[in-house]
Amino acid sequence: MRDKILLALVVPCYNEEDVLKETNYRLTSLLVEMIQEQLIQASSYILYVDDGSKDKTWEMIKDIYKQSEMVQGVKLSRNRGHQNALLAGLFTALNNCDAAISIDADLQDDIRVIKEMVSRYRQGDEIVLGVRDNRDNDSIIKRGTAEAFYKVMKKLGTNTIKDHADFRLLSNRALQELKNYNEVNLFLRGLILELGFPTSCVYYQRQSRMAGVTKYSLFRMLNLALAGITSFTIRPIRLIFIFGFIFSILSLGFAVGIAIAAICGAFIGWLPIIYITLWFLTGLILMAIGIIGEYIGRNYFETKRRPRYIIEERLIH
Ligand code: UDP
Ligand code: MG
Repeated sequence: MRDKILLALVVPCYNEEDVLKETNYRLTSLLVEMIQEQLIQASSYILYVDDGSKDKTWEMIKDIYKQSEMVQGVKLSRNRGHQNALLAGLFTALNNCDAAISIDADLQDDIRVIKEMVSRYRQGDEIVLGVRDNRDNDSIIKRGTAEAFYKVMKKLGTNTIKDHADFRLLSNRALQELKNYNEVNLFLRGLILELGFPTSCVYYQRQSRMAGVTKYSLFRMLNLALAGITSFTIRPIRLIFIFGFIFSILSLGFAVGIAIAAICGAFIGWLPIIYITLWFLTGLILMAIGIIGEYIGRNYFETKRRPRYIIEERLIH
């Protein structure tokens, strides 16, 4: 059994002024409780990452930082998106924690399972994933797209845990290793599983947002899904190849059929044949180019090796 740990709660925030106060209250109370129960060290803390918010989020973080020894903050120089904000927080906490738990600012994830995560860590797990039991509180669109996403990921052979978002505990060791992954196309929930350390899951009911609105538009979700697929598998390219192969065999068959028909005196004319072939091939080629382009485009960003975030200010006790 590991000793009581130095825990960091990492909370990415983008325009979260509506929820921040309540979130801070609940998280602080939880930490105090856990300190009293000797689960975590008294120097455990909450680290808020302001992801370039346009509202009062950073001012609020500064205020609570001044009032509470338990609160730290970093501010990114501009909005870099949830995954990068998370990473900024985790790597900031890296040198000052035994384990870090990431959780969304809206507290849709049940903070009561944090204790369970910590005890799993103390029993030896390096990674503990929070997994939703149901999606009753998500909109139909969100539920539908998420379902479809996990299905596609599974079909493509990519490793993901269904209904695990970014609520998880990572040990310091896992964080150190995560640092060696330099990709810019970030899909943390896939990368984490790549690490291969002892991993377990805790289950909870997902709540609806306390206040404010979702910061994930359909476009952003699509982007995340694409990052998930393209950063982990090249199967789409192989699929295109297989399709191309099947189609060429089929057209060969048709060609032979038409030739035989023509020999027997049943020629159907050239024009329809040419049109159909033309549209068919054009569609196929465009599809192939699109997919290959997607990979090349992402590759282009990877080779740049740009920093994924820049911290503008730090509030660290
Ligand atoms: N978030 C962020 N940067 C962004 C978008 C979102 O840091 O560009 C944070 C947001 O403040 C929240 C978390 O990511 O803490 C998840 O966002 P949200 O709750 O809006 O997503 P949903 O739960 O609807 O998927
Ligand atoms: Mg949310």
